[in-house]
Amino acid sequence: MSKFSLRKQLKSDRLGLSSSEIDDASLQAATHLLKTDLYQSSQSIALYLAFKNEIHCSKLIEQCFLDNKSCYLPVIKSNEEAFFVHYQENQKLIKSEFGIFEPEHSEDDVTDIEEIDLIITPLVGFDSRGHRLGMGAGFYDRVFQNKKHPFLCGLAYSSQEVEEVPVDDWDVNLDGVATEKEFKIFT
Ligand code: ADP
Ligand code: MG
Repeated sequence: MSKFSLRKQLKSDRLGLSSSEIDDASLQAATHLLKTDLYQSSQSIALYLAFKNEIHCSKLIEQCFLDNKSCYLPVIKSNEEAFFVHYQENQKLIKSEFGIFEPEHSEDDVTDIEEIDLIITPLVGFDSRGHRLGMGAGFYDRVFQNKKHPFLCGLAYSSQEVEEVPVDDWDVNLDGVATEKEFKIFT
């Protein structure tokens, strides 16, 4: 199936989830991830604020603050550029032109990817080899292109796993995924 059709199908499936299904899965996936050495040994963690029915990071963000980790959130610009900015507890969030909340920031608040130890990414679909299907703008592919990047962990419903995600030259693979069922590393 093409990326386009797969994305359409998976996005439509996700719209059928109830808010308690979303919250339960988000909490369970966070619980699996929080137990890992990966989380515990990461001091700087990039997360995201969920959009529509994406599995969310609320529990993870809360725990990162309790554990005194440094948190980062993505900022996406209309020229398709994306970068991460530092996010502090109680920092004011503003709604971007895409309807996604992001921390208030200035032009030079761009964080160097090398400062981050772990990046938690949303996704539309994934497969058993760590191929990632995103929303279709290639944001994460662009941020990481030609760069040595930190561990990239997808946060997903297990129902988002498909037989095979088509891969293009520019696609950046996931290193692992946390779902409501388990945390696993792709080898
Ligand atoms: P997603 O990763 O969100 O599923 P795709 O992998 O289909 O989306 O990529 C979407 C678009 O982003 C593609 O049309 C591609 O041309 C563009 N893109 C991806 N990575 C890069 C990059 N490194 N440089 C320029 N354009 C890119
Ligand atoms: Mg891609």
